[in-house]
Amino acid sequence: MQKLVIASGNQGKLRELAALLEPLNFEVHTQAEFNVPDVPETGTTFVENAIIKARHAAEVTGLPAVADDSGIEVDALDGAPGVYSARFSGADATDEKNNALLVEKLRDVPEDERTARYRAVIVYMKHAKDPSPIICEGSWEGRIVLEPQGAGGFGYDPYFFVPTHGCTSAELSPEEKNKLSHRGQALRQLVEKLSQ
Ligand code: IMP
Repeated sequence: MQKLVIASGNQGKLRELAALLEPLNFEVHTQAEFNVPDVPETGTTFVENAIIKARHAAEVTGLPAVADDSGIEVDALDGAPGVYSARFSGADATDEKNNALLVEKLRDVPEDERTARYRAVIVYMKHAKDPSPIICEGSWEGRIVLEPQGAGGFGYDPYFFVPTHGCTSAELSPEEKNKLSHRGQALRQLVEKLSQ
C-alpha cells in the first residue's frame, strides 16, 4: 500500500479526507503521527497555502503528502473570510468565535444576499521538491443562516445552508457531505488523476 501523509492538524478535515482516501488503498497517516509542526500559512491564495502545507509535510516525513486549503467566501463581505477563514476572528480564533463574527457582520444583510461558497484546493506532492504538484479544486454554493442548525461537520457548517437539500451542511451525514462538498469534489478529482 502506498503511504501518504495528510498535511493537516484540523480534526474535521482529517476525518473527511481519510474517509475518502482510505478505501483507495492508501495507507493514510496524519502529520501529527510524525510530529510535523504547523507551518505558517503565508500565501494569499488557497493554492499557495495548500502547496506550502504539502511541501512542508513531505519534507519532514519523506512521504508523499496531500494538503487541503479551504475556506468560505461570503459575497456580502467581498469574498471574506476566504483564505483567512480559520483565523477570521483573530489569532486565538475558534469555530465559535469565527461563527459569532460571521453572524454579527451579516445580521443586517437580507437572507437572499447572504450567498456564499466553500472552496477547497487539494494538492498532492510526490516529494518536497516535486516540480509539478497535482492541484485540484472544488466549490460548493450555499447561503449563510443567522441561527445554527445541526451538530455534524465542523467550522462554519451549522451556518452554511445548502439550498439543494434544504438544510445546513452540519445536518448532512458525513457521507452526504462528502458527496456534495468542495473537499469531496476536489478529492475525487485527485483520485482520478492519481489513478491515471
Ligand atoms: P485552513 O486550515 O486554512 O484550510 O482552514 C480552513 C477553514 O475554513 C476551516 O478552519 C474552517 O473554518 C473553514 N472550512 C473549510 N472547509 C470547511 C467545511 O467543510 N466546513 C466548515 N468549515 C470549513
